[in-house]
Amino acid sequence: MTDTQSARHNVDVVVVGAGLSGLTAAYRLVQQGISVLVLEAGDRVGGRTVNVDVGGGAVTDGGGQWIGALHTRMYALIEELGLSTFQTYTEGNSIYLQHGKRRTYKGTIPPLGPLALVDFAQAQFRLERMAKQVPVRAPWQAKKADTWDSMTLGHWLDTNSLVDEARHLFTTCFTMMYAEDPHRISLLKVLHQIATSGGINFMVNTRDGAQDSRVVGGMQLVSTTLADRLGDRVLTNSPVTEIHQDDHEVLVRSARADVRCRRVIVAMTPADAGRIRVTPELPVRRAALQRAWHNGTETKVFAVYDKPFWRAQGFNGSALTDLPIAHFVVDNSPADGSVGVLLVFVGTAGAGPGFTWTDEVLNDPAARHTAFVRDLVTLFGPEAANPVEVTEKSWVDEPWINGCVGTRAPGVLTGYTDAATVPVGRLHWAGTEAAPEFESYLEGAVRSAERAVAEVRAALSDAVRSKTDHG
Ligand SMILES: Cc1cc2nc3c(=O)[nH]c(=O)nc-3n(C[C@H](O)[C@H](O)[C@H](O)COP(=O)(O)OP(=O)(O)OC[C@H]3O[C@@H](n4cnc5c(N)ncnc54)[C@H](O)[C@@H]3O)c2cc1C
Repeated sequence: MTDTQSARHNVDVVVVGAGLSGLTAAYRLVQQGISVLVLEAGDRVGGRTVNVDVGGGAVTDGGGQWIGALHTRMYALIEELGLSTFQTYTEGNSIYLQHGKRRTYKGTIPPLGPLALVDFAQAQFRLERMAKQVPVRAPWQAKKADTWDSMTLGHWLDTNSLVDEARHLFTTCFTMMYAEDPHRISLLKVLHQIATSGGINFMVNTRDGAQDSRVVGGMQLVSTTLADRLGDRVLTNSPVTEIHQDDHEVLVRSARADVRCRRVIVAMTPADAGRIRVTPELPVRRAALQRAWHNGTETKVFAVYDKPFWRAQGFNGSALTDLPIAHFVVDNSPADGSVGVLLVFVGTAGAGPGFTWTDEVLNDPAARHTAFVRDLVTLFGPEAANPVEVTEKSWVDEPWINGCVGTRAPGVLTGYTDAATVPVGRLHWAGTEAAPEFESYLEGAVRSAERAVAEVRAALSDAVRSKTDHG
C-alpha cells in the first residue's frame, strides 16, 4: 500500500504503536493464530529504541539500550529472535571526580569520603525498607501511600541524606534513571519502582545490574527483527487519530487505514495515548491520567573516536563527576570495539545544586558538543580532544514520543491508581508504563505486552465460548 492510500481492513486485533511493546504483542498474537495489524505513527519501528550510525558500518544506541540478568523476558525474546548480547565494558578503572579532585576506582562503589559512604548506605537502607512496605500490585494501598505520594524523592533526599557528596551521588543515579529532576518524582513511585525492579543495587549497577548488557547490532534490532517477521502486518506513517468502540467491534481510524477489529492494544505512554480521540469517552480516571502524564526527557551525546583509546590507558570509560556537562560518562562502543564511543546524558535542567546545565549547553548543540569534549579531555587526557565526530540523539522533539522514561509526579499514583492498566471495554493498554514489573524499562515494555496479550486472548476465547453456548 502506498503512503497516501487509505484502506479498510478487518482483523482480530489492532495494535497501536510499533515500539518494542506493540511489536512484541503483535508477534505473540500472530504466533497464537490471531490476525493483527500494527499501526505506527512514525516512519520507523522501535519507538524509544533507535540505532545511531557512528561510521564504518557501526552503530550505537540512541535510546533504550541496557538490560540485566533480572530482565528475563528480554533475554528470552532476544534469544528467540536469534540475536545476541554483549556486556558493557567494565575492565579497568572508573573515574570519580569531585571539586577538581580526580580519583580512580574499580568495581561498583565510588571512593566517597567515609561520612558520605555511611550516609549513602543509611539512605539506601531506609529507601529499601520503605519499598518493602509498598504492595507491588497496588502501591496506592501502602499504609503510608498518601504521605509518600505527597512528597518527591528529591525532597526526601534533601532531608534524609545529610552529606552533600552522598546526596549528589543519589541525585546523579536517579536523574540518569528517570531523565528527570528527583524533585519532580513522587517518592511513592520510586519506592514502588525499587520494589518491582530488583532493588537499588540492581537498578544502579552495571556489571550484574540493569546496565549489564546490550544487543549486538543495537537494541533497535529487536524491533526491526520483529517487524520483519510481521511483514505487511506493520504499517508505518499511519498515526491513529480515533478509536470508536461499541458492544460488537472497534473502528480504528489512522492516516493510512481504517480498521475494524475485535480488540485494540494501545502500546505507548499514557501521554501519547492522550492524543487519540476515543469514543465513547474514556473513564474520567484514565482520561485524567493521560493528561497528567509526563515523561522525563534527555539527549544522548556521543563522542566518537577511531578506537576506544581509554581502554589501552587502563580506563573503562566510566566516570562520575561534577564537571559542567559530563556528570555520568560511559563507554558506549559497539560490541567489537571497532570504533570508540563515549556517551553522556544531557537535559534534565534544574536537578538541584551542582546538577544543572546552562541554557547554552541545553539549547545549542555546538556548545554542548564543545563542552562535552572539554570535559572528556579533563577526564581522559589530550587523546580525547579530537573525536572523529560528536553526534547525538535528542528525545526532546520526537513528534510522536513523549520523552524517555515515565516518572509520576506526586499525587498521580494515589489519584489515578490502576488507570494505566485496566482495560476500557475492548481497549487494552501496553507500553512499558503499563508494566506489572520493571515499568520504564525495556523489560517492562515486553511484560506489559505479554499481559495485554493474555487479556486479549482471554476476551477472544470468552467471546467464542459465549457464541458456542448460544448456538
Ligand atoms: C534515551 C533513552 C534511554 C533509555 N535507556 C534505557 C535502558 O538503558 N534500559 C531500559 O530498559 N530502558 C531504557 N529506556 C526506556 C526504554 O527505551 C523504553 O521503556 C521502551 O523502549 C518503551 O517501549 P514501548 O514500546 O513501551 O514504547 P515506545 O517505544 O514509546 O513505543 C510507542 C510507539 O507508539 C507510537 N505512537 C505514538 N502515538 C501514536 C499514534 N497516535 N498512532 C500510532 N502510533 C503512535 C510511537 O511513535 C512509538 O513508536 C530508555 C529510553 C530512552 C528514550
